[in-house]
Amino acid sequence: MLKVYNTLTRKLENLKPINDKKINLFVCGPTVYDFSHLGHAKTYIQFDIIVKYLRYKGYKTFYLQNITDIDDKIIKKANEENTDWKTISRRYEQTYLEDMKNLDVNSVNKYARATDHIPQIISQVKRLIKKGYAYKISDGYYFDLSKFKEYGKLAKRKSQEAEDSVSRIDENPEKKNKGDFCLWKFSKPGDPFWQSKELIKGRPGWHIEDTAITEKEFGPQYDIHGGGLDLIFPHHEAEIVQMESISGKKPLVKYWLHTGFLQIKKEKMSKSLGNFFTIRDVIKKYNKNILRFLFLQTHYRKPIDFSEEAIEQAKNSLQKLNEFILKLKNYKSRSTNNKKINSMIEKTKNDFEKSMDEDFETPKALTVLFEFMKEINKLIAEKKISTKDTKKIKNFMNKINEVFGILDEEIKVPEEIKELAEKREQARKNKDFKLADGLREKIKSLGYYIDDTKDGMVIKKL
Ligand code: AMP
Repeated sequence: MLKVYNTLTRKLENLKPINDKKINLFVCGPTVYDFSHLGHAKTYIQFDIIVKYLRYKGYKTFYLQNITDIDDKIIKKANEENTDWKTISRRYEQTYLEDMKNLDVNSVNKYARATDHIPQIISQVKRLIKKGYAYKISDGYYFDLSKFKEYGKLAKRKSQEAEDSVSRIDENPEKKNKGDFCLWKFSKPGDPFWQSKELIKGRPGWHIEDTAITEKEFGPQYDIHGGGLDLIFPHHEAEIVQMESISGKKPLVKYWLHTGFLQIKKEKMSKSLGNFFTIRDVIKKYNKNILRFLFLQTHYRKPIDFSEEAIEQAKNSLQKLNEFILKLKNYKSRSTNNKKINSMIEKTKNDFEKSMDEDFETPKALTVLFEFMKEINKLIAEKKISTKDTKKIKNFMNKINEVFGILDEEIKVPEEIKELAEKREQARKNKDFKLADGLREKIKSLGYYIDDTKDGMVIKKL
């Protein structure tokens, strides 16, 4: 049984979706006003792996993510660049999606922009006003926290404590309670705005877009909500308040999952602190497999301190795994099939799943794979397995890789190139180096090259 740690109950719980094997899952997407950094990469890679594992286990998972494309930070950036909010948010939405593609974060079914859901947002604000949960002051409609008795049930805080929240608090001395947050901001001159019959012209507050989007896609209740730890309060708390007040149904979300921070010298990596590396800069030097491996080495709820040494270490460990795959690929032997291979694979598969079933314990799952690799390497060295066995092992590793996404891609090498490479190998064996070099050049002219590793030759694309 798959267990997840639920921030709402602070307990490890058996995952029981609302509808049997179907899961509706929502993760807060980025506010698109700049390039995404490695902290974003940690959260989104870890949820990518979680979703891929849910699907591996047979859960039909719909993964929804919002894009915050209107917000104070976006407007500020637009003003700085003398342009409009849409230019900024479309630009950084595109760079975000490119970054995700480059990281192999491809499990999201739907990205939903806030500004594509203005009618749903307005409808939610209207219903909150009608039910007496929202009130109007000079700069917008606010939620009255004194009306929601269970406020703080996710973050384990009381409404009076709301003011020490870390991010994006709405300030206005006219508010009824200190923690009241804005649902709909009236537009200041020059600000973007949306007009409707029902509300004074303005734009959505930060929290309302998520409940408007999830209500449209999933209804008033769904299975899993994720995001970084910083979002628990006030953002996720506010989502609960809004949706449970509107629908009267509890809980909004059955399981809340939160990722730990990527840090630099024990401080959260963030744009505002200036201690960040953009994803696009880092993947120029370290490919996405290395980054994914680095994030797999630590449980998703824990922080990771990012450093050059940490990523170099990840690179070296991952290289062992890739060399192992290469060895399997190049292995040739006349040995008969090893009777133990099937049970070794079965045991590794079970241990892998057991680790992942414990709230996605990826560090343990990696240990299981490395142990397996060690045992198989021994059998290879002793020539105690057949070529057919290595194929089985490779297939198994590929299955795991559909979840983790850390192994080097297999490139499709055309037959013609393979034949030339074989001829070159033969020429080298015959010590005909002139012919070997000539063949190497021919292969190069066709867009491929040969890398002679200690485990044999590998054909790569130029
Ligand atoms: P933002 O665009 O700041 O709203 O962040 C988008 C997502 O990335 C949220 O789920 C954040 O919690 C997450 N995030 C931001 N910074 C970090 C970090 N340093 N480590 C892990 N996750 C982060």
